[in-house]
Amino acid sequence: MSQVPDGDGPVTENRAAENYDAVIVGAGLAGLYQLYLLRQLGLHARIIEAADGVGGTWFWNRYPGARCDVQSMSYSYSFSPELEQEWEWTEKYPTQPEILRYLNHVAERFDLTRDITLSTRVVSAQYDDATARWTLRTDTGSTMTAQFVIMATGCLSASKLPEIPGLERYRGRKHHTARWGKEEIRFDGLRVGVIGTGSSGIQSIPIIAEQAADLTVFQRTPNFSMPAGNRPLEPGEVAELKASYRGWREAQRTSRAGIPAPEATEFALAASPGERAARYQAAWEKGDLVSLGGCYVDILIDPAANETAAEFIRSKIRAVVHDPETAETLSPRTFPFGTKRPCLDTGYYATFNRPNVHLVDLRMTPLIEFTESGLRTSAAEYEFDAVVFATGFDAMTGALAAIDIRNGNGLSLSSVWTAGPRTYLGVAMAGFPNLFTITGPGSPSVLSNMVVSIEQHVEWISDLIAYLREHGYAAAEVTAEAEESWVTHVAEVGSLTLFPRANSWYMGANVPGKPRVFLPYIGGVGAFRQKCEEVAASGYEGFTLRRAGELAAV
Ligand SMILES: Cc1cc2nc3c(=O)[nH]c(=O)nc-3n(C[C@H](O)[C@H](O)[C@H](O)COP(=O)(O)OP(=O)(O)OC[C@H]3O[C@@H](n4cnc5c(N)ncnc54)[C@H](O)[C@@H]3O)c2cc1C
Repeated sequence: MSQVPDGDGPVTENRAAENYDAVIVGAGLAGLYQLYLLRQLGLHARIIEAADGVGGTWFWNRYPGARCDVQSMSYSYSFSPELEQEWEWTEKYPTQPEILRYLNHVAERFDLTRDITLSTRVVSAQYDDATARWTLRTDTGSTMTAQFVIMATGCLSASKLPEIPGLERYRGRKHHTARWGKEEIRFDGLRVGVIGTGSSGIQSIPIIAEQAADLTVFQRTPNFSMPAGNRPLEPGEVAELKASYRGWREAQRTSRAGIPAPEATEFALAASPGERAARYQAAWEKGDLVSLGGCYVDILIDPAANETAAEFIRSKIRAVVHDPETAETLSPRTFPFGTKRPCLDTGYYATFNRPNVHLVDLRMTPLIEFTESGLRTSAAEYEFDAVVFATGFDAMTGALAAIDIRNGNGLSLSSVWTAGPRTYLGVAMAGFPNLFTITGPGSPSVLSNMVVSIEQHVEWISDLIAYLREHGYAAAEVTAEAEESWVTHVAEVGSLTLFPRANSWYMGANVPGKPRVFLPYIGGVGAFRQKCEEVAASGYEGFTLRRAGELAAV
């Protein structure tokens, strides 16, 4: 079962510690840019990455159809105008191989590779109050110390398996979408089961259906999906955006979701049904994540307004799917539109018109167990040559929880977070000095074009480190009051919306036992940036800054 996530490897040897100014955990979009900026500050920094290549999400998620849902020219770094001009994106929405090529290019172009250790997983991080340094241990037995640790471990990197007994019993092929492996995997002539209809399932199912002899899709919760309208980029439009990139980047930074879009000013329920239908149709045809939800101000706030958008999408499903019962099973009814991550697809709903594709509604007939040859639900037994897990991630906290992070008193971050994650600005935690999380819980992160949010956090962390060095500080630690007030603010803003009504991974609901907390910050990318800038301008209000001589007093 090489494609499903494996646990931490054994600690095999003990070597002398290497000493750094900063260690960055993770070589995805966030880690690569963080290394670039820390080097510019003159820090001796190193990335430790579990994978055997850079790219993070785009290294791991190689399933068929894997593609970004933010347009390629926006889902790209803005820090280097030269890079922006050189790189040629080929499609409206970039494929996983194209983004991975881009990130490998970035690593080489900026000579980052020499400071990246691959195939090495950080298993623990322990802070020492007296020296203001962290000691990190890895699964290869190496140890390193660093003044600063930056967790660039990813919001969606800790993949999860379905909670179904007997997985080890099943003898057929098993593939997890987030651990796909580098070799091409095909399903020609096979009987295939796919578990999960989130974004990864919705992207891969149409392609697997074309190859497989027979495909059974196991769906627990149907999702709202909109057609991506993907297409090759025209040379003219690429040239036009390249010519105006600076203004576009600025618009991204001040926007709500890191994707420039007009702000809604009208209320859905104030419009006539005909006006609403016309506006939703125009948004639908744009083929993006933000237009439909952005049609009216009340869609994410008022359940009745939301229902008008939800019903519009359901009408589209009914128009495509021939069998009315299948169309109804595919129609989301248990959560408001937009409160689970909506998906963009290419031919998803039409796939269920194929004679070789079958849909199993797990709310009616739950999965009971794996058998040697397949899966058993409460109603039937299914035999498969291959099973695909499109079962997602322990989002936002999973990768951090997998590392034993302890402060100077031996207190673990996991124990502090038992009732839900607590951060200041999603970037730092009280009691854990000089430890930073890029797009951590409590920041816009997964509710935004993540490249925009990643760049903002990376630049902010770099500025803070530069400030500490310039002013002779050894350590920065968030105060308990600042953290408490931010946690309260994040929850309050979230509670003004419909998001808490959904059993979503935004709420931790996909992981049994995970506290039910709205994890990201919904206040908007632009407003969040402004708040972060104010904190920096005030000399880092909310942080206690300590000089070396003050450390022992902690
Ligand atoms: C299938 C999929 C589609 C997505 N589509 C979009 C999209 O359309 N738009 C969007 O904005 N975002 C999207 N995302 C979110 C995506 O994760 C971010 O856009 C971005 O790639 C995150 O970059 P990162 O560097 O923060 O994290 P990641 O890319 O997740 O990188 C984190 C890295 O840290 C490593 N790591 C974790 N723990 C350890 C450890 N203990 N030791 C060593 N290494 C470790 C991991 O191996 C990984 O390589 C998608 C995510 C997925 C999974």
